[in-house]
Amino acid sequence: GRLQNRTAVITGGGSGMGAAVVGRFVEEGARVVVLDRVQDKLDALEASYGDAVRGVLGSVTEYADNAQACAVAQREFGGLDVFIGNAGIWDFSRALLDSTPEHLVAGFDELFSVNVKGYVLGARAAAPLLRESRGSMIFTLSNAAFYPGGGGVLYTAAKHAGHGLVRQLAYELAPEIRVNAVAPGGMATDLRGPAAMDLSGESISTAIPIGQIVRENSALEIEPLPEDYAEAYVLLGAARESRTATGTVIDLSGFGTPRRPR
Ligand code: NAD
Repeated sequence: GRLQNRTAVITGGGSGMGAAVVGRFVEEGARVVVLDRVQDKLDALEASYGDAVRGVLGSVTEYADNAQACAVAQREFGGLDVFIGNAGIWDFSRALLDSTPEHLVAGFDELFSVNVKGYVLGARAAAPLLRESRGSMIFTLSNAAFYPGGGGVLYTAAKHAGHGLVRQLAYELAPEIRVNAVAPGGMATDLRGPAAMDLSGESISTAIPIGQIVRENSALEIEPLPEDYAEAYVLLGAARESRTATGTVIDLSGFGTPRRPR
């Protein structure tokens, strides 16, 4: 495997994009620690992958939980080669003028805590171990890190912030640690929203026909699956195959190309 004997921590690996990356990493020979806030999802992963996966229950918004996931990687698997910041929430494309001021105040704090602070704290927890292994960080961004319309103001601003974080971390952590990101486009997952905006009870899959919307609005007219994007994480996590890449985002969303009128 291309990730034989490599160890990874992935946040939000319990479902969707993260779970697809866990599957590909294990297939390639890696051992993976998953930090997620839902115990049932962690149990399901450990049942599927056995000794190759360890679950840690916690929230990316807490430094101690990020540190715990990294400590488990070191203790159980002997070190850390790849840190993948992936856990995120979405604002269901709630527009500015459709949002109450109260929802914006509380929703900003909750969404930025998960999507931006979670990435910062994960990077802080993983960096000392990655420096030893000369490893890399990979963050999940989005078409919303480049283009409007993939979320509302909170989500789009947070994913653009993630883009800045990747550039800054790549600069600060060089030359020992490479820092890159993958930008997927819309996919049917369990992606939730801020509880403070009453958006935590449903997911992108139950709220809207996301697969159909992407198919009908994108140039390639396909319904992307998380598996379609997982390969880029393998490339960026491998020791040699992307050894020149840092500070970059692999935009696999296809959303930079408008649909051709016909
Ligand atoms: P998902 O909900 O299926 O997966 C996210 C996981 O993160 C879940 O298992 C959830 O329990 C976990 N999580 C959420 N908040 C957490 C917290 N505070 N602490 C720990 N774990 C937490 O959704 P997904 O679509 O797979 O999302 C993964 C990433 O992909 C996110 O960064 C998201 O912004 C990004 N993304 C999603 C889409 C899409 O359309 N689904 C498009 C582009 C980018």
